[in-house]
Amino acid sequence: MRRREFIINSALTLGGAALLSGCTKKEIKKSQNQVVRRKFENIDTPLIALGCMRLPMRDKKVDMVELDKMVEYAMAHGANYFDTAYMYVDGKSENAIGEILKKYPRESFILADKCPAYLVNSPSDVRKLCEEQLKKCQVKYFDNYMVHNINKNTISNYRDNNMYDELVKLKKEGLIKYVGFSFHGDPQMLREVINEHKWDFCQLQINYLDWEVVNADELYQIADEAKVPIIVMEPLRGGVLCNLPQKAVDKLKSECPNETQASFGLRWVAGRKRVFTILSGMSNLQQLKENVDTFVNYKEITEKEEKLAHEIAQIIQSGGAISCTACKYCLEVCPRGINIPAIFGLYNMYKGSSAQNAAFMFVYNYNALDESTRADKCIKCGLCNKNCPQSLDIPKLLAEVDKKVKEVEKSMD
Ligand code: SF4
Ligand code: SF4
Repeated sequence: MRRREFIINSALTLGGAALLSGCTKKEIKKSQNQVVRRKFENIDTPLIALGCMRLPMRDKKVDMVELDKMVEYAMAHGANYFDTAYMYVDGKSENAIGEILKKYPRESFILADKCPAYLVNSPSDVRKLCEEQLKKCQVKYFDNYMVHNINKNTISNYRDNNMYDELVKLKKEGLIKYVGFSFHGDPQMLREVINEHKWDFCQLQINYLDWEVVNADELYQIADEAKVPIIVMEPLRGGVLCNLPQKAVDKLKSECPNETQASFGLRWVAGRKRVFTILSGMSNLQQLKENVDTFVNYKEITEKEEKLAHEIAQIIQSGGAISCTACKYCLEVCPRGINIPAIFGLYNMYKGSSAQNAAFMFVYNYNALDESTRADKCIKCGLCNKNCPQSLDIPKLLAEVDKKVKEVEKSMD
């Protein structure tokens, strides 16, 4: 096959409907081993995607040589979805991934970016930001573009500035193909946001630990009922699920001897059928190869493995001092709406994790809870204790968690 024919063939195959936008673009050396893809409506994506929030670094700069190799490997294996954002890698992510991707035919890759809601103070800011981001990424359009990080603090930026309507205008002009949002709020807020517009997709934090101890199951169910396709972020809980406590490692090894912790966590997420791609923040070629391998040789999660995930989540939880089972009976009586099971769940995850960033993730996720529902808002009335089947002294434990949060925060100063 002549070189030009090869390039055209490769581009067409990888992109699904790829066309060349020039004859100087990089050759895609297509491997026979392609990752599995999923399709929701018109969105056709690889099940695993390269999240560009933890790019390889060298001397405080993005390691472009390593990133080049990663993108080349990903493209060769059909993992041609890249997800970046305005503030990732201290604002360097968009430039870096754009610099590498410009070597490839535009239609051969899927690029997702996000409009930072916290920077939007008027409707016209949406266009300004999008145009700036397109320039940084050196592309004429984004495939997926979303309101970034809707939560209790940014919901007013999103609503007051009609961000959805502004994104739809950009879509009509061809600057973006699909409109979505990423989300870090509670189920009630998700229900409202998801039903107030016709979204092409949403991006949620889903993994087997959040499913068991926080509310990922509820978030998934809300998106599923609304029939909104889901992109998953933090499938390994910021590394917690690939740094399991020894007891959980032993259990995984004994039941699935050929499975890595990361592969198990990713396959579990892929078991949720509304999910059409899973973002994993990879920092080197080795991690990428492992993740690609999981989805080249993809095996559906089995019922037995679902049960195992549940058991491992329990082990992680029980590694902490609090034997909360997340039954939520206490919530029924708390006059202050303290999010007791979520607080204890986060604390237990922290206690059971050997991940280097466990303390950071603990404080980060704790502070993502609604401020009025955190441990320090408990008035120590004791009503919850009467409802707790585990006989926990809840106000006392909340005080301990609050103390630990403050200690960790202080140690990070
Ligand atoms: S003791 Fe605290 S957590 Fe328990 S019911 Fe009262 S306010 Fe809520
Ligand atoms: S009642 Fe007890 S076990 Fe149940 S969620 Fe509340 S603290 Fe946890």
